[in-house]
Amino acid sequence: MAEMEPEIEKFTYVVVGGGIAGVSCAENLYMLHPEETTLVITASPLIKAVTNVLPVTKILESFDVEERPAEQLQTSCPNVTVIIDSVLRLDTEKQCVRTSSGKCFSYQKICLCTGAAPKVIAPDCPHVVTIRDTESVHQFQERIKDARRILIVGNGGIATEMVYEVTGVEILWAIKDNHMTAHFIDAGAAEFLRSELGQEKTRKTGPVKRSKYTVDNTQNSKEPMLGGALGPDWHAGLELKGSHTHRSVVLETLVEVAAILEPHQVRDQGKTVTSLHENEGEWPVYVELTNGKVYGCNFIVSATGVTPNTSSLTNGNNFTLGEDGGLLVDKHMRTSVKNVFAAGDVCTPGWQIAKHWFQMRLWTQARQMGMYVAKCMWAEAVGEEVYQDFCFELFTHSTKFFGHKVILLGLFNGQGLEGKYEILLRVTKGEEYVKCVMEDGRMQGAVLVGETDLEETFENLILDQLDLTHYGADLLNPSVDIEDYFD
Ligand code: FAD
Repeated sequence: MAEMEPEIEKFTYVVVGGGIAGVSCAENLYMLHPEETTLVITASPLIKAVTNVLPVTKILESFDVEERPAEQLQTSCPNVTVIIDSVLRLDTEKQCVRTSSGKCFSYQKICLCTGAAPKVIAPDCPHVVTIRDTESVHQFQERIKDARRILIVGNGGIATEMVYEVTGVEILWAIKDNHMTAHFIDAGAAEFLRSELGQEKTRKTGPVKRSKYTVDNTQNSKEPMLGGALGPDWHAGLELKGSHTHRSVVLETLVEVAAILEPHQVRDQGKTVTSLHENEGEWPVYVELTNGKVYGCNFIVSATGVTPNTSSLTNGNNFTLGEDGGLLVDKHMRTSVKNVFAAGDVCTPGWQIAKHWFQMRLWTQARQMGMYVAKCMWAEAVGEEVYQDFCFELFTHSTKFFGHKVILLGLFNGQGLEGKYEILLRVTKGEEYVKCVMEDGRMQGAVLVGETDLEETFENLILDQLDLTHYGADLLNPSVDIEDYFD
């Protein structure tokens, strides 16, 4: 007997994903088009909401993130319906989605905000853990309790935060660049922070910048990546402590993992193990690095970046993908398929990007894209023209590394300048690190570590492209009050 087709429920807008991009999109669709219906389909039972938005500069904002029950979005945005389900199939011909619980929903415009999943160095290896959602943080917490040594692979924000956050354990940190945190900072700023590496983390009192998540992840899903990404302060309030009394960090630069070995493989292959102490005994697992060193540890943390979650969406559809596997979107956040938009970690910008902006799969960009895509969907629906949002003019990011405030502006690492730039630097050990990237006397980017108070001035200088040749190195002279000149 032929399978009965489920009844199709009709919505004007469908948003897939309850992370920051999806929720920002749904909230803005409500503001722009309250008379139309919007459905949010999200695999995770709680949705993310941005609160306490405070402007830091014209473009940079600080905000808190809360996890909330889905109903709260329905209460604050009465035209929005939220269902906890996962999209199994997207039929872009019939303009409908089918979910794992067998429901079918049609759309006039759909926005895909399904996020990204961690790349794992050895996905099936029981000795490798990764951090993505609350479930994975709890697994990590359980394992680290009895650990004496862990090996962290990766050099991005998550690896950096983890190196800072875990205590009571020996940390081997394997990075493929020649300095730590290379995705965010240059070698100079890395050196500035390096003195903090082996230190115990100083527990700051006072409010946590962003609140914690409490996702109870969908247990039976075949797609392990369906839970939303954690975000800033994922570690707040959690004890990530090993079985040692103190912590230490060994940094291995310019290496990758060549092999993960069981103890018997190390013995059988006659590998020489690099010991950090006498009589280390046998470790549960060994890692061979590309520099030939073999280290033993209790387990390995893989923090090597993310891959956009597209698998359930691309099946049978003709999406153009970016080089990184994201859904390629144009300047109006449209994918290559009619009436299908995308935002956040799942997408890859396919437009001619502004000189001082680039994509990094970050919280801030997920929010900016989510808000902007709603405008684009609405504009297309009602035949309005929409201009690209100003936030795509300048890359801005605010975070904390090793307890220091870090603000990144524009081409902060000289990205795209092909090595043809000058650097102005001001460093006060342990206090602040200020770096400006200059091209032909004009500021192209900046790294601000510590309480520098320069973010607004520098944002203006990058956006306005003033010729600063005249100031030379005095631009960073602490006795010259440049805020007064340029604010
Ligand atoms: P996500 O938040 O991943 O949301 C995706 C949503 O899609 C989820 O709700 C998921 O359930 C849903 N979904 C997926 N597939 C389906 C499907 N088939 N059907 C239905 N629903 C589906 N960024 C920063 O800016 N600063 C930081 O300090 C920072 N730290 C981080 C630390 C960690 C440990 C991690 C993992 C990430 C961190 N990030 C940080 C990155 C940031 O969290 C992401 O860039 C951001 O959350 C992306 O938002 P998103 O809405 O695009 O995707």
